[in-house]
Parts: sequence; structure tokens; C-alpha cells
Amino acid sequence: MEIREIVLGLQKFFSDINPFFLGSLVFIFGAVFGSFINVLIYRLPLEIDIIYKPSFCPKCNNPIKWHHNIPIFSYIFLKGKCYYCSNPIPISYLIIELFSGFSFLGFYILFGITWDFFVLCLFFIISLPVLVIDLKHHIIPDELSVGGTILGIILGILHNFIGFQNNSNITINFFDSLFGILVGLLIFGSIYFLSLWIFRKEGMGMGDVKFATTIGAFLGSYPAIIAFLLSFIYGSIIGIFITVFKRLKNYKKIKAFSLLKDYSLSIDYLTSIVKSYVYESELDQLKSSYIAFGPYMVLGAWTSIFFSNFIVDFFVGGII
Ligand SMILES: [Zn+2]
Repeated sequence: MEIREIVLGLQKFFSDINPFFLGSLVFIFGAVFGSFINVLIYRLPLEIDIIYKPSFCPKCNNPIKWHHNIPIFSYIFLKGKCYYCSNPIPISYLIIELFSGFSFLGFYILFGITWDFFVLCLFFIISLPVLVIDLKHHIIPDELSVGGTILGIILGILHNFIGFQNNSNITINFFDSLFGILVGLLIFGSIYFLSLWIFRKEGMGMGDVKFATTIGAFLGSYPAIIAFLLSFIYGSIIGIFITVFKRLKNYKKIKAFSLLKDYSLSIDYLTSIVKSYVYESELDQLKSSYIAFGPYMVLGAWTSIFFSNFIVDFFVGGII
């Protein structure tokens, strides 16, 4: 029970500090982790060491000095350019640092410095890189999915030992965490194997199955089920938009091609256009056979964290 007293003491200590001062600290803390999230997004898909290799410019490979590596400020002072080679630093770095700072601040406003705050921040540090990496590279690194599941279990065990008060859906005990993992495996594992069996191809990557266990480990069974349902809904809505957009793009190409025919241009020129069209549509097909589902899972998980109680009340309340 000693650990519990220390934790309660810490919570009391933080609740006595001026909230504006503490909120500013939390924002800085979030921006620093945003910087770390940028490192994860860049390095994990390339399998570069995250911890021991110091920061470097991906264009000129020069090591980045600490005063050029201060979140948000350095980007503004360096005017978005590398100090050595003047190559632009992608604006996404600044956006992710700001977004992380404001998100952490939001968690603090909602829950104060509590166990909930701590767990939300950790899930944020795992899920934001999953969203971006899956969008960019169509993979979910094991460090995030398997690592995240293990972390979720550890948090659950700590919860059992210390007995924190629950304020949000994300602070669960060890058994909830295990059930969540089982639910994730059951739903996503069966989609994976069924589509292999029926369609002879992966309807979903193994990375998605692993990440489903991460969501289960953090959210527990019921909120995880709602997160998965939402991810399918988000996926189909956005999927329809993407398909319509692609059709429109191809339609424009075909129209342009038929216009050229009217002007009776040289055959070589025409065949090169036809070839580029066929080649591109093949590329499109290749790309579309690997759907990045991770981003929808991340969106589903966050909606469930904040709104699953609402959603359950709304539907169950409607039935009764
Ligand atoms: Zn550089």
C-alpha cells in the first residue's frame, strides 16, 4: 500500500500547483514528446536506432546541435530550414510538435496530473506514429504494435497493484486488458484468416491484427469493440470518397486522351500516353490492394476513449 500512498501524495502535490503554470509545463512536455514522435515516424520504418543515434539531418547527415533541436522554437528560428544545408524541414515536424503539445494540454485540462493523464499520453505516443507511418508506408512497426500491447498489459498490472481511481475509459486493470487483447485477436484475426481462405489474399495486414491487440490492451473489451466498429465505419466512409476521387481522376485522363485523338497527333506520342495511362492505372491497382487500415483504427480508438459511454447510452438507451 506504500506505492499507493506515494501516488496519492504526488496527485495532491500536482493539484496544489498553479494550473496555468502546470498547464504550460505540460504543453512543453507534450511538444518534447511530439519531437520524439517525429523521430519514431522517421526512423522506425527505416529501422534506424531510436535511442542511441543522435538527431541528424536526413538530407546532409550533419548531427543536429541541441539548441537547433528545441521543439517548435527551433523550427521558427531556423525558418524551417536545416542550419547546415538549408534544405527545408517538413512543416509536418512543427505540426506534430504543436498537436502533441495541445493534446497533452487537453488531457491535463480533462483529468489533471493523474493516472488517466499518464496513460492517455502513452497511448498518444504510440497511436500517432501508427497513424502517420501506416499512411506513408503501409506498415505498422512491431515496436509500436507489439511493444504497445506489452506496455498496455504492464499498465494494467500496475493498475491492479495500486488501485487507481478510474476517470476515463483508458485506465483499466490487468484482466480487462487481457480480455481486450482477446477481443482484438478474435475480430481481426478472423478477418485476416477468413479473407486468406475465401479471397486467397490478405484482406488486412498482420500489422493491423497486432495493433488490434494494442487497442484491446489499452481500452479493454467493450470500448475496444466500439473502437473496432467505428474504425470499420470510418474506413468505409472515407474509402468511398477515395474510390470516387480515383474514378474522377481516371475519367479526366480518358477524356484528355480522346481529345488528343481528334487532333490526329503522331502515333508515337499517342502510344506513349496510352502506355503511361495503363501503367499508372496498374500502379493504382497495386496500391489500392494494400489498404492502410491503421489510421481508421487509431481514429476509432480515440473516439471510443472519449465517447464510448455516450455511444452505448445512446443505442442501449434507445432499445430499452
Ligand atoms: Zn541538412
